[in-house]
Amino acid sequence: MNQNSLNVFEQLESEVRSYVRSFPTVFTKAQGHKMWDKDGKEYLDFFAGAGALNYGHNDPNMKQKLVDYITNDGITHSLDMASEAKGDFLEQFNEVILKPRGFDYKVMFPGPTGTNTVESALKLARKVTGRTNVISFTNGFHGMTIGALSVTGNSFKRKGAGIPLTNVSTMPYDDFGSDNLDTVEYLERFLENNGSGVDTPAAIILETVQGEGGINAARFEWIKKVESICKRFGILLIIDDVQAGVGRTGTFFSFEPAGIEPDIVCLSKSIGGYGLPLALTLIKPKYDMFAPGEHNGTFRGNNLAFVAATESLNYWKDDSFEKSIKAKAEKVTTFLENLVKKYPEIKGEIRGRGLMQGIASEVEGLSEKVAEESFKRGLIMETAGANDEVFKLFPPLTIDDESLEKGLAIIEESIKTLVKDKELVTS
Ligand SMILES: *Cc1c(COP(=O)(O)O)cnc(C)c1O
Repeated sequence: MNQNSLNVFEQLESEVRSYVRSFPTVFTKAQGHKMWDKDGKEYLDFFAGAGALNYGHNDPNMKQKLVDYITNDGITHSLDMASEAKGDFLEQFNEVILKPRGFDYKVMFPGPTGTNTVESALKLARKVTGRTNVISFTNGFHGMTIGALSVTGNSFKRKGAGIPLTNVSTMPYDDFGSDNLDTVEYLERFLENNGSGVDTPAAIILETVQGEGGINAARFEWIKKVESICKRFGILLIIDDVQAGVGRTGTFFSFEPAGIEPDIVCLSKSIGGYGLPLALTLIKPKYDMFAPGEHNGTFRGNNLAFVAATESLNYWKDDSFEKSIKAKAEKVTTFLENLVKKYPEIKGEIRGRGLMQGIASEVEGLSEKVAEESFKRGLIMETAGANDEVFKLFPPLTIDDESLEKGLAIIEESIKTLVKDKELVTS
């Protein structure tokens, strides 16, 4: 690659590229919560692959397992034939994750991405119930293929479909719109009233904390009520845990503290452990109704991801990892509470839970500027929300306290600089 290497991307890569615009440098190396670019500049990663790197970059144990596996000519590609790596993963997932939580799910492997598991979940719910409609929520994000887009809120992303997105009714998420609106009661009215114009859906799909849609965390009692509404009307509850799952909110599944048991769970992003593509669709056994091959995909059997994923689940063998996430999350919450008090100019509101937190700023464009300033100071962080109004703190769950504090200090420095800027205060 030539000296002026960002030119390569400008000249050869499609205009659709996005993160390279926010983080304009060429990365060469990464380890844990750190990344380095071509010039040797070090960055703290508060982005973590949008949640695909919950265990950080190049975890040494996973790396060793992968190197050994490749060196020994382990199976790399096998569609959904039985491989030892896949069998090991299934056993470990059952022993370490499902059994201790008392969950009984069949594991389906769709294609290896988040949108693949969402598509499979929607298709299955429609097949099981024989209904066509699905209820999704405002500011939900579920992926970029047509089915997943149809349950996604963002109008810019929806428009990209190029066709009408149908067979979906959007309902207000918890705390959407007005303080006086009990959105779960509103949802129930629509379902029980024969004049509502909303067909009883095959499924209700939601994220317990909306990742791309602005780090909106639904209250546990709201989630629980949605589950009971699903039971009342024979609707399948799909929890899209692609981003909020695998420890991001403090527990393996984001819905554990809500005390629910969804009919279908979508997992991807960090389930592969090492940043390798993998997705699972967890299905209650009675709904495991796809005929053999009715839903498939060439890359269902990503054995390298199975090897890394099996190793990654060792983090969950006792509760020490959960405890460490909680301690770091409290640190972040305290920091954010102080930040919004200390800098009232940013008109900030704290969002989210666990290590999935951020600040929504009412000042137009501020969150993007905070991310930009932070990048200059060596911190990678993205924004979320319909208008990018939220800056999003998303470090690997494995980050050490010192680096976490260093990252928080960079964010505060960036805000301090921006607040001093008169233009911001008057805008
Ligand atoms: C990222 C994401 C998806 C889509 O995953 P891809 O791998 O990008 O297809 C789906 N749902 C949620 C909640 C996500 O955050």
